[in-house]
Amino acid sequence: MNQQKQIRKWENINCPVHRKLSHNTENYLYAMYLLNEKNEKITASTLLEYIKQLPSSENLGTSLPTVTGMLKRMTRDHLITKDKNNEIFLTEYGKISAKEQTKRFRLASKFLHEILKIELKDVFQEAHRLEHAMSQEVENSIDKLLNYPNKDPFGQTIPGVNFNGNEQNFPLTKSITNELYIISKIPPENPEFVEFLNKNKVLPGNKISITELSVTRGIITIKINKTTVDLGLNIAKTIWVKNI
Ligand SMILES: [Zn+2]
Repeated sequence: MNQQKQIRKWENINCPVHRKLSHNTENYLYAMYLLNEKNEKITASTLLEYIKQLPSSENLGTSLPTVTGMLKRMTRDHLITKDKNNEIFLTEYGKISAKEQTKRFRLASKFLHEILKIELKDVFQEAHRLEHAMSQEVENSIDKLLNYPNKDPFGQTIPGVNFNGNEQNFPLTKSITNELYIISKIPPENPEFVEFLNKNKVLPGNKISITELSVTRGIITIKINKTTVDLGLNIAKTIWVKNI
C-alpha cells in the first residue's frame, strides 16, 4: 500500500494523531504546499498573506493571532515543525497530507471547469467548497473521469503519477523582448483578475510574444494573436511562462 492510501485509512480510525483534518487545516496545508512550490519560505506572515486571498466563505480568520493559533494546533497534530527563526516545515506526514489536499483541490478545479462548465473566474471559490467534501472514492472517480490529468485549468500541477517534475517555468517578468513563450500558469485566486486574463486570452497553453518590458514604466506589453495586453510588473510576476 502506498503512503497516500495510508493517510486516507487513518481518517477512518479513531487515532488522536491521524484523524480527519479540519477544513482550516486542509486550507493551511494547501497554502504551505503552494509556498513550497514557489520556493517561498513558510512563515506565519507569508501564510497570512496567502490566506487573505482565500474566499470569505472559507471562514478563515485573517489576523496574525489566528494564524499562530492554527500553527500551534498543526504542530500538536504532527503536521509541521518550526525552527529557531520561526520558519515552518512540513513533517513527512504533513507533506503527504499537503500533497493529497493539493491533488484534491486541483482535481476539483478541473472537474468544475471541464465537466460542469463553471466559469473560470468562479472555479477557485467553488473548488474550495468541493475539496473539503470529497471522499477518496469520489476523488478516484473524478481522476478517472478526467483521465488522470496533470494540470488544473490554471496550469498548476496536479500532484500524482503523471508528473515528471522537470518543467522549466519562470515568471513573465523574467522574459525577454521579442521572444516567444507559452503561458504555463496563471494565479487562480482573484475572480476579477482571472476574468481579465480570460477575456484577453492570457491562458495556459497560449503563445505570447513580449513587445515591451519597461522597468521604469513598470509594465510589460505582451501580444497574443494580434491583440496586445499591458500588465503591471507586480501582477506579471504571478503569470508563469516557458520557452517554446
Ligand atoms: Zn478550501
